Amino acid sequence: LPALAFDRVTKRYGATIAVDSVSLEIARGSFVALVGTSGSGKSTLLKTLNRLVEPSEGHVTIDGTDVTAEPAPMLRRRIGYVFQNIGLFPHMTIAQNIAIGLKIAGRSDEAKVAELLDLVDLPRAIADRMPDALSGGQRQRVGIARALAPGAKLLLLDEAFGALDPVTRDALGTRIRALHDRLGLTTILVTHDMAEALLLADRVLVMKTGRIVADATPADLVAGK
Ligand code: ADP
Ligand code: ADP
Repeated sequence: LPALAFDRVTKRYGATIAVDSVSLEIARGSFVALVGTSGSGKSTLLKTLNRLVEPSEGHVTIDGTDVTAEPAPMLRRRIGYVFQNIGLFPHMTIAQNIAIGLKIAGRSDEAKVAELLDLVDLPRAIADRMPDALSGGQRQRVGIARALAPGAKLLLLDEAFGALDPVTRDALGTRIRALHDRLGLTTILVTHDMAEALLLADRVLVMKTGRIVADATPADLVAGK
């Protein structure tokens, strides 16, 4: 049973076909990059998983169950979703920001905050700091800690490193890949950066005008297969 399956998923916005009959299966534990130019439909396809987008046609299943089978808030607890410039609440400490993720899950164990900081390689000492005292890369890591707080095994990264400088971006990407391996996550990384995809993913899907036009390992893509 694949972790994720898209069955002839189409999404239209008026006359625009953002996603055009995509069928796709993604294995548990894989790190998949979804690459393509702006407007190719990457975000729209990704958001059908957490129901920020409802398909016009087709079905999306997670572990064999249709995503519409349970209320969206329950579904979203099981899915870590991180986008560009993820918002931290500026008037709350780092610990309080992460605790929001825990409260959503009905857990308010404070020790868990320290554990989550460890997870994303941030020093526990920053727990009492305010977001504006952190670098952009550190803030994105707090966002990832918050997204994974409820124990999500599925991680969706939508241009999550996009606002960072190249060095911070590479370092964060490598960390997230290590985290993926350590926690046995299933991860989808949406990016327009092919180099990032080749570096981090096991499988690269290329999207163009709403369709998947290539599906290969990084090694095969580099070899031009
Ligand atoms: P990508 O993530 O690859 O940049 P998107 O999925 O954001 O692409 O967008 C795919 C297409 O659908 C684009 O033409 C975009 O303008 C359009 N689109 C996306 N979201 C909406 C929306 N909420 N309303 C109307 N059109 C949208
Ligand atoms: P991205 O390519 O990273 O998705 P965009 O700037 O294309 O970023 O989209 C940002 C947000 O606006 C997304 O939530 C997308 O669904 C929405 N959006 C994109 N295109 C349109 C559009 N033509 N009309 C309305 N909303 C749109």
